[in-house]
Amino acid sequence: MINKANGILNNIFGYKNFRPLQEDIIKYILEKKDALVIIPTGGGKSLCYQIPALIFDGLTIVISPLISLMKDQVEQLQELGVGAVYLNSSLSKEKYQKNTQLLIDGKIKLLYVAPETLSQERTINLLLSLNVECITVDEAHCISEWGHDFRPEYRQILEIRNNFPKAVCVAFTATATPRVQKDINESLKLNSKNNFIASFNRENLYLEIIPKTNGVEQTIKFLRRYPNQSGIIYCFSRKQVNSLYDDLLSAGYSVLPYHAGLSDDERQRNQELFIKDDVQIIVATIAFGMGINKSNVRFVIHFDLPKNIESYYQEIGRAGRDGLRSHCLLLFSYGDIQKLRYFIDQKEPKEKQIAERHLNSLLDFAETGICRRIPLLSYFGEKYQNKKCGICDNCNSTDKDLVDVTIPAQKFLSCIKRTNEIFGASHIVDVLRGSGSLKVISNGHDKISTYGIGREYTKKQWMYLSHQFIHQQLLNADNDFGSLKLTEKAFEVLKGSQNVLGKIKEDFEVQDEKQAAENYDHLLFATLRKKRKEIADEMRLPPYVIFSDKTLSEMATYFPTTKVEMIRIHGLGEIKFEKYGQIFLNEIIDYCEKNNIKLKVNEGRPPAKKQTPIKKKSQNSTGERRC
Ligand code: ADP
Ligand code: ZN
Repeated sequence: MINKANGILNNIFGYKNFRPLQEDIIKYILEKKDALVIIPTGGGKSLCYQIPALIFDGLTIVISPLISLMKDQVEQLQELGVGAVYLNSSLSKEKYQKNTQLLIDGKIKLLYVAPETLSQERTINLLLSLNVECITVDEAHCISEWGHDFRPEYRQILEIRNNFPKAVCVAFTATATPRVQKDINESLKLNSKNNFIASFNRENLYLEIIPKTNGVEQTIKFLRRYPNQSGIIYCFSRKQVNSLYDDLLSAGYSVLPYHAGLSDDERQRNQELFIKDDVQIIVATIAFGMGINKSNVRFVIHFDLPKNIESYYQEIGRAGRDGLRSHCLLLFSYGDIQKLRYFIDQKEPKEKQIAERHLNSLLDFAETGICRRIPLLSYFGEKYQNKKCGICDNCNSTDKDLVDVTIPAQKFLSCIKRTNEIFGASHIVDVLRGSGSLKVISNGHDKISTYGIGREYTKKQWMYLSHQFIHQQLLNADNDFGSLKLTEKAFEVLKGSQNVLGKIKEDFEVQDEKQAAENYDHLLFATLRKKRKEIADEMRLPPYVIFSDKTLSEMATYFPTTKVEMIRIHGLGEIKFEKYGQIFLNEIIDYCEKNNIKLKVNEGRPPAKKQTPIKKKSQNSTGERRC
């Protein structure tokens, strides 16, 4: 059986190997044992039930709460030549009839269905006449009131399941606390105690957090590094979405807004344009993202603080679903923290306690000096096995070692004291740096002893230091005015009885990832991407349904010029080759000719390493196959 599964993985899906857990889960399902599977977004849940579905003689039902996701999955399966349809309230009568007929004719292996459609009598009657072998519950956390997205319709699934005693039942979700896991097991009466839980680590996401100074400028600087790439920028409020959208639009970016204040049509349209690669960037509130399966989101920016770590994890989870390196940037502002603290203070004691805990975990994560994956995964109850991941800002930071900053701290603190603890950090820094600004002069601060004693650091460096002083509780910032006040600990520092350790950053604007540019031919990639878009538009499909970015980037790395070589590419099986292989081969051959690229003959397989294309100026060379 598992050989059969391997064959399907290679030939239909075009993937070489199973990911961790996939193989075990597939085996388990094929043995008709119920299971609960928790794999984070992008981890490859769908294959776990799609492959058994193709092996079973009968039908697999996939219960899914999101109509857009259903459509997307069915389109992708149909592209692979798999018999799949969906039934939900969005279908016209004719289309519904057509899909029903396909089911009756035994043409369908996978039926995607919304829970409310499933509980209708006509659906049950239809299914009772068919051989249902597997019931898959997607987004299974919706069954639990303790989950973050409870759906009452999900409660009826057990009753429906009882009609099909022969069918194995498998529940899938991306996140479930132990409490929710228990709920799922009980509500579906899963007959096995075996839960498959994958790591929460998304290893292709580069995590970076920088202090927010000028958010718009920092965002634009970041975007310049990812020209023509898809990304999502999350903001806290509609107002912020609109304002950032305007800024980016006038800076010439391909961008659209998304928030609950827009009409349904407009939201739908903007989302569609983004999914189809007609627009590169979406600036959105957290309303955006549910049910989006776009695999080539290359970056997620948090322009404002996320609500808590769980939301942060979900939102960054929309990046890099194709497994390629993707960048997650959070602009961290102490002002936001102050605002949040203010809101939290207004809450009821119990709520306040929970909110404070969430905020503190977020702060610990943001301010940690160690690998970011350690606090992030530990939040989900997982211990990160390594000391360093190598793909977060802290692991890549050159100036991460703490230095003694007692002297600058003393200068800063005494300047606050001399100006009577009524000014914010920015003014204090101006005084320290000897600014001639009106505010400094009119307050007579050019006459005090701390005036101009801190010229050794830039304003940005001082601001960064001041944030550290606040976090180390040398200072309290007033919620309303941002004025800084000394704490008892600060007096210890001023007296010289306590030292302060901290970081002095060279420049804390967006740091360059250490990782050099991806190792593929970018021009060829762009050419292939253009071709993909043409085909997608013609077929009215999102481009990633044709081929993922990962598939194209492998083509632009290995330069396949024959069918055999092409089939080795990630995401490319026989069926996809039949449909599009030749078109893309032609593009690659054309490109090589235009650019005088000759390929070494390479008959060995698989191409474990990059097949080196040689760019040549001279035309005539023998012994190498011209591509
Ligand atoms: P999930 O449902 O867990 O969020 P998906 O099933 O959508 O994740 O898979 C995420 C991506 O990973 C998809 O682009 C899918 O094609 C790819 N993928 C899944 N399994 C494999 C595998 N074994 N090898 C290569 N790519 C895979
Ligand atoms: Zn790290």
